[in-house]
Amino acid sequence: MILQNGGPVTVLTGAGISAMSGLPIYRDAAGNWIHKQPVQGPKFRSCDATRQRYWCRSYFGWQAFSKARPNSSHHDLVTLERNKLINHVITQNVDGLHQSAGSKITIALHGSLSEVICLSCGDVSSRSDLQTRLTVNNPEFLKIDFKAAPDGDAIVDDHHIEKFNIVDCSKCRGVLQPHVVFYGDNVPKQRVSLCMDHVLNSRMLLCIGTSLMVFSGYRFCKAANEAGIPVVMINNGVTRADDITTLKINDQAAGVLAQLKTHLLRASPVYS
Ligand SMILES: [Zn+2]
Repeated sequence: MILQNGGPVTVLTGAGISAMSGLPIYRDAAGNWIHKQPVQGPKFRSCDATRQRYWCRSYFGWQAFSKARPNSSHHDLVTLERNKLINHVITQNVDGLHQSAGSKITIALHGSLSEVICLSCGDVSSRSDLQTRLTVNNPEFLKIDFKAAPDGDAIVDDHHIEKFNIVDCSKCRGVLQPHVVFYGDNVPKQRVSLCMDHVLNSRMLLCIGTSLMVFSGYRFCKAANEAGIPVVMINNGVTRADDITTLKINDQAAGVLAQLKTHLLRASPVYS
């Protein structure tokens, strides 16, 4: 069994692990975009209309996103964590579901949508509080229909977007951004190097529910492979790292993790 040889294991997760929580995913099994490409960081910061569009869609997207709860895969990983069968979790997800399930070892590579940062004074505040302020400033938006999209985004008719009132930092009136790494932006160097240390000190990198199409996650597979550390992949569909994978399980994360947990706990039950 893949986790039973002893030594630290680092897990890298992506959107596939949260799909069962009802959160939409970006790509199909062939790695193609299902939804329109997400907002780019530089455009968000330089263009008023882009921010208005982002926050209007986010206002609706948050209503579905904030209700998502951890699923069996998040809980199974926490069981493996408590039994010390995995040592670090690096997630590319911004939904906080590993942490909601009780994980104490998760690093949110791309930040968290539950927080908002002011680009002027650096104040970090709660996304839920911002939702309340957005509702107060846009009371007529409460009844509009929308369709949820990945990462707290939503599809809303364009004619609504231009009427949406965005809000600014309550401390300094600066521009607010979700506290995440947008596409087109870089993960903070310190965070990358902490994750890289974990990966390179592991005896295995286990990737779950990720196509690894984004370089910020793929780089860990590449580095593990170059260091001779086995890369094991559980993903339903193609991934960017398929050619450097030691073992590929082409299946949904939930079923594989459930089997893995049952097998491992039969061998060494501590917490279940
Ligand atoms: Zn501010």
